[in-house]
Amino acid sequence: MTDRPRFRPDVKDIHRPYTASDDRYAAAGYRQVGSSGLYLPPISLGLWWNFGDNVAFDAQRTLLRHAFDRGITHFDLANNYGPPYGSAETNFGRMMREDFAPYRDELIVSSKAGWDMWPGPYGDLGSRKYILASAEQSLRRMSLDHVDIFYSHRPDPVTPIEETIVALDTLVRQGKALYVGISQYDERQTAVAAAVARSLGTPLVIHQPSYSILNRWIEDGLTRVLAQEGMGAIAFTPLAQGVLTDKYLGDGRAQRSQKRSSLPHTALPHAAITALRGLHIVAKERGQSLAQMAIQWVLRDATVTSALIGASRVEQLDDNLAALGGPAFDAEELERIDALAESIDLDRWAESAP
Ligand code: NAP
Repeated sequence: MTDRPRFRPDVKDIHRPYTASDDRYAAAGYRQVGSSGLYLPPISLGLWWNFGDNVAFDAQRTLLRHAFDRGITHFDLANNYGPPYGSAETNFGRMMREDFAPYRDELIVSSKAGWDMWPGPYGDLGSRKYILASAEQSLRRMSLDHVDIFYSHRPDPVTPIEETIVALDTLVRQGKALYVGISQYDERQTAVAAAVARSLGTPLVIHQPSYSILNRWIEDGLTRVLAQEGMGAIAFTPLAQGVLTDKYLGDGRAQRSQKRSSLPHTALPHAAITALRGLHIVAKERGQSLAQMAIQWVLRDATVTSALIGASRVEQLDDNLAALGGPAFDAEELERIDALAESIDLDRWAESAP
């Protein structure tokens, strides 16, 4: 656990103008994204959940201020984060204007297009029409003139990869994105996309795949392609949406801050609870929480630049940041983790992995 003082949110403080902590870079440890000039914090914060209009704005602001104060320089968004769709970007835009404007050049802000966003044939997947219009809308919602990274959120089974990648290149040439990347593309799609991007002079620098102790699809070839292409990975849902935390260790029913349709709302199967408790024991023996061990586990792979987590409370952020001080894994621990993970058939992202 961290030896930093626990954050005590003060209701009055949140309404005062924000000044970032002077020691926000004390922990350092920023990691290079592949062979690019871009660096990311080992833990980045995603705004998929907990930043929509269904969460009090002050709670969101408390989380983001605290994250930046602790050296988290990367906030990950997408057009459809909320609910409702778009609201996470709108709320983030208000925080950009009111809190983070003086720190714009210290931040890496990303957004994406690829999942359904608006009705009709031009608000989904990977066409040039959708990508360019959606990026424009995202910038307006976030009160930004450019994002640092823009992603194609998922491969499109119909639109040629070339069309999608040329659209990303256009965003860079228009000054609306500094870097571009892809998410959930498999190893073959990634190799094609990287080759197209390179030929345009706008290399893809980053891939955002799902990856956790319970979901290892990227190890079947994708990480090899990323290393060959000089790309880095930012691993999303490293906690398997909260399953790899202490939330399910009791009777297997999670106390969640929000209902996520992609997660089980009934108790987990007995075998899964037993295995999660086994993982918890391995973590304890290492002096860690299960969440800390799960984060450190994804970061052990040299291709993975950053673990992209979600959080609903500052205590979770602090718990997770303490993962960075954990001991290196030995071979026996890794074997125990592998064996326990095999008996947990829970990963919701494995189904959507290519
Ligand atoms: P996650 O880190 O696997 O799960 C986060 C959730 O786990 C939190 O919301 C919280 O649940 C719980 N949690 C976190 N730390 C905890 C702790 N120390 N103790 C107990 N519980 C803890 O990630 P995620 O939220 O599913 O996704 C993270 C980010 O990945 C997203 O915000 C998004 O940026 C990105 N993402 C990308 C894609 C894509 O297709 N590219 C898809 C999904 C996600 P409660 O909120 O219930 O407290």
